[in-house]
Amino acid sequence: MNILLATSEAVPYAKTGGLADVCGALPLELARLGHRPVLVLPAYRHAMWCGVPVQPLGIDFIIPVGSKTVTGHVLESRLPGSDVPVYLVQQDQYFDRAELYRENDKDYVDNCERFVFFCRAVLELIRVLELNVDVIHCNDWQTGLIPAYLSLEYRRLPRYSQIATLLTIHNMAYQGSFWHWDTLLTGLDWRHFNWREMEFYGKLNLMKTGLIFSDSLNTVSRRYAEEIQTPEFGFGLQSVLQHRRNVLSGILNGINTAEWNPATDRYLAANYTVDTVGQGKPICKAALQQKFGLSQRAEVPLVGVIGRIAHQKGFDLIAEILPGWAQNNDVQWVVLGTGDPRLEQTFRDYARQYSGKVAVKIGFCDESAHLIEAGADLFMMPSRFEPCGLNQMYSLQYGTVPIVRETGGLADTVVDADESTLANGTANGFSFRADTGMALGETLWRACQMYRQPDRWRQLIATGMRQDWSWTRSAQQYAVLYEETCRRARSRP
Ligand code: ADP
Repeated sequence: MNILLATSEAVPYAKTGGLADVCGALPLELARLGHRPVLVLPAYRHAMWCGVPVQPLGIDFIIPVGSKTVTGHVLESRLPGSDVPVYLVQQDQYFDRAELYRENDKDYVDNCERFVFFCRAVLELIRVLELNVDVIHCNDWQTGLIPAYLSLEYRRLPRYSQIATLLTIHNMAYQGSFWHWDTLLTGLDWRHFNWREMEFYGKLNLMKTGLIFSDSLNTVSRRYAEEIQTPEFGFGLQSVLQHRRNVLSGILNGINTAEWNPATDRYLAANYTVDTVGQGKPICKAALQQKFGLSQRAEVPLVGVIGRIAHQKGFDLIAEILPGWAQNNDVQWVVLGTGDPRLEQTFRDYARQYSGKVAVKIGFCDESAHLIEAGADLFMMPSRFEPCGLNQMYSLQYGTVPIVRETGGLADTVVDADESTLANGTANGFSFRADTGMALGETLWRACQMYRQPDRWRQLIATGMRQDWSWTRSAQQYAVLYEETCRRARSRP
């Protein structure tokens, strides 16, 4: 199939979150499966200097944006290690900036205009480069206008008449919501600014626009696909998603196994597989304890935590239970993260108060993340919502038993250990429902009890390590979804 992935970020060109990992990895796997993906993204300043060769194609196009016309250029690149073509849409006024969407804690005021331009440019590229496209795979609000332009303006043109559209929702919390006058920038008729199409509570909503006009919708786990149809997780768009539930599905992201594999990980004191985890993990644990200044004891359970220190990730729940645990229980903690300054300070204080038992590193550090994933016994991730989540999959791969809140991708990857799941061999971690410190503490307690039962603990580790979290699995599911989307598009009235 010919697949055009339209995205506002992709590794290694530009990244602010998991979206970039998906859009960097998925096309490589699709190409390996014999499909013909191309990737289109903005030529941000960072993309131009990221070290991957980028060539101008000498092709210009003109895009209407509101009452003016703006010229863009096409640059060409290849995803590193592959032949997958990457087209970068160059318009320096919009994209030659220090960041992708915001600076100094403020969104760029012209974000709507920038992505109106980008969405139209993606469709123009198909014409100027004479691309054959079966399906356009859009990602998040930044590409939400593409399905609308295709339906309302481009469908009549021969090259576009058969193109199907899929929109992947990576995080419902970000919707591209702008004041109503920005509708003028889209160039679409005002009659589409209504509650059934582009308008949401008086504002222009680009995520909603994409949800309405795409042939298929998906999100990055099955559970999250269910959850976003409820008021708790839908951020207001739950009824739109309920309305379109028959075209909505969930596909888990994969992990980059070249980077995250305990058998080959270059950061580790010892590499190991499921067969040698019993020898390798104690060495990694001792190295982690030494690096983070924890007392060197093999028998004490070590809890790892990595992530954005944000309400979404439930770091406040960890902060709530940590002092009690540090005072009353023989458990060690390593916390790595950045985010909310107040919570950062709380964790710094804990590290000082409970030194030798609690270690905290505030910052972003890839090496420490690898050392924690390998050296910890337990990995804690009590997210309030989690569209997919990567760290719990790294943990399973590294034989580090996850403790997670039962939500989104965490619910789809972690099976709580109880008598029945241990008996049928599916248990690989621990999970809980209530978003309270009490529920988290009880679950940690259960996990620590099982840690003292070596046979059961080995079983949990082996079950997680044997599971397949690769991109190959996800890409196969996307290929099926693309086929289904094309069929759906062909039967469109
Ligand atoms: P999200 O994208 O919502 O932040 P994910 O679990 O999907 O959460 O992915 C987060 C990624 O960022 C993981 O690869 C994780 O290891 C990494 N990460 C997050 N915080 C840090 C940090 N402080 N240092 C190193 N890596 C981090």
